[in-house]
Amino acid sequence: MIKVIAFDADDTLWHNESFFQETEKKFFALMENYLPQHTVARELLKTEIDNLPLYGYGIKAFMLSMIETAMRITDNTVPNETIIKIIGYGREILNQPVVMLDGAEEVLKELKGRYKLVMATKGDLLDQERKLKKSGLEHYFHHIEIMSEKKEDDFRKLIKHLDLQPEEFAMVGNSLKSDILPVLNMGGHAFHVPYHVVWAHERVEGEIRHERFARLDSLPDLLQYV
Ligand SMILES: [Mg+2]
Repeated sequence: MIKVIAFDADDTLWHNESFFQETEKKFFALMENYLPQHTVARELLKTEIDNLPLYGYGIKAFMLSMIETAMRITDNTVPNETIIKIIGYGREILNQPVVMLDGAEEVLKELKGRYKLVMATKGDLLDQERKLKKSGLEHYFHHIEIMSEKKEDDFRKLIKHLDLQPEEFAMVGNSLKSDILPVLNMGGHAFHVPYHVVWAHERVEGEIRHERFARLDSLPDLLQYV
């Protein structure tokens, strides 16, 4: 029944969140003269969530949120050198090589031809395009969708665009909140491939039981289902 399989990219096809978490640690250490690290962490997450409707996801939004948090917790006395360091942290992530998850390309190779493959990811448009190009995976995909949000309505738009019924669509991704729950709710199939770190804002509690859902230990396990 499945005709199209859509893959999330960050932390599903290639590593991403681990780079952000390493950078966060540097930022917490940079600010610890002002506040304990765990308090800086809480403040940064608050800024990021407040800024999501305005800035969306991705590295540029993350950089702006680090700068804004630094300003707030220093009562606007943060030294210029600190701001320059923060911008440098963001640029470092932008320049990271694309590191694929084990088996990702093999899975795409196996499924191409049997299904139409789609990449459906959030983040900065330019950064995701750059990563896709660097990954060398572009030719496996029939369609690339860089989304500003992954909510039920965003997936409905995507399947309408692809001329599909919900049950003909399957999503594969690491985020229960963004890749799995909205797709199940709109009537699609969803395969969860957990990644070892999850951004606090993407965490979801509890187990999912659903006839159109499966949890995979790793991406190659997808081939047992489709
Ligand atoms: Mg992801």
